[in-house]
Amino acid sequence: MPATPAQSPLRVVHTVCSHDCPDSCGVLVTVDEHGRAVKVQGDPSHPVTQGFLCGKVAKYLDRVYAPDRIVYPLRRKPGVAKDPRPRGTEQDAFERVSWDEALNEIAARLKDIADRYGPESILPYSYAGTIGQLGYGSMDRRFFHRLGASQLDRTICAEAGGQAWKLVYGKKLGTPTEDFKHAKLIIAWAGNIHGNNVHLWPMVEQARRNGARLIVIDPYRTRTAALADWHIAIRPGTDAALALGMMHVILREGLEDRPYAEAMTHGLEQLYERVREYTPQRVANWTGMTPGEIEQLAREYATTRPAAIRLNYGVQRVENGGAAVRAIIMLPALTGAWKHRGGGAQLSTSGAFEFDEDALRRPDLALQSPLGRLARVINMSQLGEALTGLGHDDWREGPAVHALFVYNSNPGAVAPNHNSVVRGLKRSDLFTVVHDLFFTDTTDYADYILPATTFLEHTDIQGAYGHYFVQLSQQAIEPPGEARSNMWLFGQLAQRMGFEEACFRDTPEEMIAQALRIGPDGRSANPNMEHITLDDLRQKGHLPLAFHREPETNPFQPFVSGAVPTPSGKIEFYSEILAAQGRDPLPAFVAPAESRWSEAAKRYPLEFLSRKNDNYMNSTFANLDGHRKMEARTSQKLEIHPLDAEARGISDGDAVRVFNDRGWINLSAKINGDLPAGVVAGRLDWAKLSRDAVNVNVLTSERLTDIGAGATFYSALVEVEKASL
Ligand code: SF4
Repeated sequence: MPATPAQSPLRVVHTVCSHDCPDSCGVLVTVDEHGRAVKVQGDPSHPVTQGFLCGKVAKYLDRVYAPDRIVYPLRRKPGVAKDPRPRGTEQDAFERVSWDEALNEIAARLKDIADRYGPESILPYSYAGTIGQLGYGSMDRRFFHRLGASQLDRTICAEAGGQAWKLVYGKKLGTPTEDFKHAKLIIAWAGNIHGNNVHLWPMVEQARRNGARLIVIDPYRTRTAALADWHIAIRPGTDAALALGMMHVILREGLEDRPYAEAMTHGLEQLYERVREYTPQRVANWTGMTPGEIEQLAREYATTRPAAIRLNYGVQRVENGGAAVRAIIMLPALTGAWKHRGGGAQLSTSGAFEFDEDALRRPDLALQSPLGRLARVINMSQLGEALTGLGHDDWREGPAVHALFVYNSNPGAVAPNHNSVVRGLKRSDLFTVVHDLFFTDTTDYADYILPATTFLEHTDIQGAYGHYFVQLSQQAIEPPGEARSNMWLFGQLAQRMGFEEACFRDTPEEMIAQALRIGPDGRSANPNMEHITLDDLRQKGHLPLAFHREPETNPFQPFVSGAVPTPSGKIEFYSEILAAQGRDPLPAFVAPAESRWSEAAKRYPLEFLSRKNDNYMNSTFANLDGHRKMEARTSQKLEIHPLDAEARGISDGDAVRVFNDRGWINLSAKINGDLPAGVVAGRLDWAKLSRDAVNVNVLTSERLTDIGAGATFYSALVEVEKASL
């Protein structure tokens, strides 16, 4: 912790950015004598944060002190319909109530609904609005387990890729971020490093200064792609084909590291047989690349050392996404890239932390619920279906959803098949509670809105999925008005429900000790954290995991030797788990259900990319004017290739209607020759901030991925026509 001069009225508090980003930055918050935060800055002593923050969070005080922040509990006024409301008018639909009133009334409604329809008729809905261990999943899970509420399968972002990684490597570990500077070739595969993993960028720059090349594989010319040595604008959803084609070339030309592969992998011969059919010519037909480009990429990857792949989650948001991730991450196992410091791959480092989630979430409390067992599971990527398809109590072995409790998420904006989600949210018999900081696309349908805290206003403990440091986020300021953390909220609600278990009164400090498995001696029982004490964390803010304590003299290089935590004990080209399930144990390319190869393309010939904004975090930050200005270039635009525009008589700036069977949205055309022909792109925004109160998720489907049952945002076919606005 930096020292504050003794006479200074300012104090500096170590917090951690808890937004859904791999970088998990250490953030120093300067607080004045009135308890007001006056500055946020990246922690200069954190080896990954390196003293700077991204554009989203550098302006964070705009969010903390936004004049339109919700700071009191609100209840819908009697008789006011649940409809989208224009920004600035939302307050009119609600009246202020005290926390006591809100908690008592919500508890009474939940009890009544549980009594009438069974507790599984209550559905929590949350994701990574905060990724601190307490904020993401702790008291909330205790509450819903004890209640017997439906469990939520949290699949909307990363489940296909995460499961795919575990099938191949057993555990989510990867090349340390700091080591990318040693690479001589970096492939950002669906990774917009500059936009949403910006603390890797200095490592990339350092590597490039030392002669490394950067290749970006992405259908869209992101800021990262524009800065690359080679941008491969592959067609959406064809990544599995490309990776299999690369392996075809590598094995055909004998460029694999056979001694490494024979020692460390399982199923090499089966993989060899599988990739035979993925000739450069066939792969070229799918990807839009030339056969020569595929061969060049494979050779360059296999013969450059160290070679690192930074894979990100966009690649797995298509039906074949699990297979795509498996195929891509087999590349370093085939070439032995893990052996070279700075080589290998990174999708997520989260598997290294092993916080004690059972202690935090207490799934055992389900046994005390009226069900006496764990409740049924509902997939969050099918919220529309859950809210509308289950209008009848015979749906999938359980009751209809009669209560929805939303926190850490904004499904009215981010969930696929927006029109279906909204139909569900508008149901007059659905009781909805939302815990959030602002009026959002979801609060428009709430019965109660409860004011939430930012990461400056509560205490938490956090790992990361882009580095190997544990960090303590200390409360820097008091929450404004009556805003409260979700940990506080669910503890209070549990007591109003009459849950008597002592765990509902645990303090944040006690829960942090549980997460870290701190024993009576003050030390962690987690082998990767055995050197960590709470005092140390309070002093330093961040501490490396045990294997990453001496990165220069004893660097962490996973998967170089030894046993791998898979069924075979090796890196699995051939998945024993999938084989046991009777599924194809090897990756294969299957064209997305909605793609240029499918029957539906006759009606809807354009592949639609529902893109995220670099300066928002999914839907977070989209309500802030400063952030919106940074996204003005593409906000409410449809990017379309000149050939596709010409074929439809569309000129730059024209109003266009983008549609498919699920819905439509009006946008303004932006001609972009960098997109592959046949691909159009629009940005996720708040529905209420567009003219027709919809967003691009009206076009996306609730179809699920092959592995992990994740969302398939990047597999949607549309047609575009000129519109008159
Ligand atoms: S969003 Fe990511 S890069 Fe930005 S401050 Fe938070 S953790 Fe750091």
